[in-house]
Amino acid sequence: MLQHPDYNSPLALKSFLDENGMAMQKKFGQNFLVNEDARKKIIDCLDVTENTKVWEVGPGLGAMTDELLRRGVNLTAFEIDHGFARLVRQFFEDYSEKGKFELVEGDVLKTWKKYCDEKGSADRFFGNLPYNVAATIIADTINEGIRFEKAVVTIQKEVAQRMTAKEGSENYSSFSVLCQWAYDIKNVVDLAGGNFWPVPNVASRAVLMTRKENFPCCNNPKLFMKMIRQLFASRRKTIRNNMLGLAGGAEKTDKVLEMAGIKASERAENLSVAELLKLSDCLNEVM
Ligand code: SAM
Repeated sequence: MLQHPDYNSPLALKSFLDENGMAMQKKFGQNFLVNEDARKKIIDCLDVTENTKVWEVGPGLGAMTDELLRRGVNLTAFEIDHGFARLVRQFFEDYSEKGKFELVEGDVLKTWKKYCDEKGSADRFFGNLPYNVAATIIADTINEGIRFEKAVVTIQKEVAQRMTAKEGSENYSSFSVLCQWAYDIKNVVDLAGGNFWPVPNVASRAVLMTRKENFPCCNNPKLFMKMIRQLFASRRKTIRNNMLGLAGGAEKTDKVLEMAGIKASERAENLSVAELLKLSDCLNEVM
């Protein structure tokens, strides 16, 4: 069986890749977390036990995967890099034979939905991810009505700040609203570039997302998501100007704003998640 490289040693990882005729690919945001304590701390937060169903996006050479499988979870990993996929399959062959591990090869943004339709969702979502992939998959799963009980993602610090930003602050965006609608979000650990190999030129942060118990529902989630995207796309415009197209004219817009108790001169960036949910419900009623 193929020996795992020393996941804490950049030198060992580099030699391992060289021996296997591979190199790190920048376009896939490949930076391995080479700090064992940080890996354990992040996985502890995921709070798994025997047979917890976990999805991991981007196993790389399997440092996190190995730790998760040792804890007895049932793991599905999604990996875009064919070379990594081949090696990870070999590393965890024993687990695959026992039905504890499966690898889905390809771009997770294109593979996850089909996999989910065939085999169901997971209890936990996990990934140390390039920003665009993390933000898109979080948004896509929420969009499709899937909320993991817990998710831990390690992403660029600025993106993590957007996830937790409150109304009225510079970082508050449609992504903040979407994430906070579905999850309570807490910072787990900040990771300077030196925790990774190769060293990225941005700082990262791991965040824990816990599904909201009393999920604030809205009558038309698709409309809510469309509305927040549009409102924040031109965030300096007044809410009234932004709503005209959505509501279908001035009369309906004014009615919606009155029903929601929101001033026409207000801007989306100052409205809380609860206020935006109410606005969307009023819009749904009037349309
Ligand atoms: N899990 C490893 C770790 O923490 O050290 C590697 C993390 S590395 C930052 C990101 C991983 O995500 C790489 O293995 C990369 O190939 C994979 N990846 C990037 N984009 C992806 C995508 N769209 N679908 C699936 N995997 C992707």
